[in-house]
Amino acid sequence: MWKSKGSENYIFYYHENSYAEKDIDKVIEIQENCYDYICQVMGEKPKIKLKYFLCNSPEEVGEMYGDNEPCNGFTKMPNEIYAVYNRNIKCIGYHEDAHVISYNSLSRPPINFIRQGLAMYFDKTWWGVSNFAWTLYFFQNRRLPKLEDLMDNSSFHKYSYAVTYPVSGAFTEYLISTFGIESYKKLYSNINDDFSVCVRSVFGESLIQIENNFIKYLKSISVSNSVFSIIETELKEKGLFDKV
Ligand SMILES: [Zn+2]
Repeated sequence: MWKSKGSENYIFYYHENSYAEKDIDKVIEIQENCYDYICQVMGEKPKIKLKYFLCNSPEEVGEMYGDNEPCNGFTKMPNEIYAVYNRNIKCIGYHEDAHVISYNSLSRPPINFIRQGLAMYFDKTWWGVSNFAWTLYFFQNRRLPKLEDLMDNSSFHKYSYAVTYPVSGAFTEYLISTFGIESYKKLYSNINDDFSVCVRSVFGESLIQIENNFIKYLKSISVSNSVFSIIETELKEKGLFDKV
């Protein structure tokens, strides 16, 4: 049995005596702030309220998804978010809300890298380290995949999420700051089978040209070696160091 509490733009569902119930007012405040920021940046606002289900464990989220594969959060069209909220995992913030808000106000693009990119653009960080620091780390260590590869849904899944997620966020931030939010929204809403044609018609440049300029931009960012050490430690602790 779910308990529920409504706010201006959400209905939150949670279990009795859970961490979510204890923190519900704080969660509402954080999500409403995220919602306002996302809508302000996008210049869009969904017409329906978001339903946010705060689950006790990754296993419960997996059950709700239907494949029983433990996971921290997912969205279900048109307006539902399922996320873990317990003592150790608090899957709240921008990510899932950015998905639902963009799907409802623009569209749900068929390319995973593009969908995750917008959500990660709002997150700004991956495991507490900026998307750009991760991307520069992968570039300097010759582990940065080609954008063309990442845009292909089947090869996207060949790479670790520790690569694809922060890189998608950094690249999306580059696109938005370079070409402006309106052009970006045009791309996001109009992607069809021929992605390279869409890119050229919206931005006036090929994906390769944009990638080259993105790399030039990336190379001029300075990141402390201590941050790179944190990245290596995270990858090693999570058993991903040899997989990225
Ligand atoms: Zn996502």
